[in-house]
Amino acid sequence: MSCKLPDKLRTTVVGSYPYFPEALKAFQLRRRGDRGPEYEALVREATKKAIMDYLDAGIDILADGEQRREDMAVFFAEELDGFEISEPVRIFDNVYFRKPVIAGRISWRREMLVEDWKYASSISAGKPVKVTITGPYTMYSWSFDKFYGNMRNAILDLAESFRKEIEALVRAGATFIQIDEPALSTRAEKMDVLIAGEAFEIMFKGLSNVKRITHICYGKLERLFPEILDFPIDQYDFETKNRNYELLSLLREYSFDKELALGVIDVHSSRIEPVEEIMEGIARGLELLPPEKLYIKPDCGLKRLKREVALEKLRNMVEAARRARETLA
Ligand SMILES: [Zn+2]
Repeated sequence: MSCKLPDKLRTTVVGSYPYFPEALKAFQLRRRGDRGPEYEALVREATKKAIMDYLDAGIDILADGEQRREDMAVFFAEELDGFEISEPVRIFDNVYFRKPVIAGRISWRREMLVEDWKYASSISAGKPVKVTITGPYTMYSWSFDKFYGNMRNAILDLAESFRKEIEALVRAGATFIQIDEPALSTRAEKMDVLIAGEAFEIMFKGLSNVKRITHICYGKLERLFPEILDFPIDQYDFETKNRNYELLSLLREYSFDKELALGVIDVHSSRIEPVEEIMEGIARGLELLPPEKLYIKPDCGLKRLKREVALEKLRNMVEAARRARETLA
């Protein structure tokens, strides 16, 4: 079953969605080492609810809402060889933080995302489901390295591990693969950008019939240019609304002509952007790129918002994209 997507101003999401109660319950079980049938059923129920909300809002290219991932780095660290997870460290009164520790050579152990992708795709009403992976640079930045003592070697092993996962996903039929690299904009020196570029070559080079995406947000995005434009990436997914679309001038300077997933929703504010305001954002994007190359989406994942707020924001975003398409016709 497949359904026809618009060919202009397609709507999508970055990935995460507010956690449903089933997901929170699943996290408790997982922390106790229980990943039995009850755990799996809870994750599936939460995933189903996230997909239903994305469908309800009318999103074209969905994600699974990352309901299985309590933390975007710890999740992958638990699945890959070479990592241990630290004991919980208290960072605020009632907030505990577990950190991945690199204790040996990092390698791919087993499929991490294929079954979840298959399940999400089976209930997505024929719409494509994008797969999101926390990128090698971010995984390394958010871990404590007790083994390599060399950022590049660790990052390249992470990239080799993810390449195996990506190949398994492509074999299963996934067509949108997104590497999330939020850490890349936080302190990126040129050397870091070049190492990240090597990692993208390992993960994405030579893949066909699949949309290769990276999502990067906040921090000093501008420091990644122009090197990042040479990465083997088809679609750049950036946070733009929060910085009043200033990034678009930079992209224009570099004659950007790849696909851009344009952030038009602020995920740090619970204010629901009116449709007209979102349409103004889309118009800014259309000054740079034709509508076939412009995807419309929130700045970042939605997990920190209340569910009702996230859903309302997405509904307005889809309506704005629909009206913008009409004005083009
Ligand atoms: Zn983000």
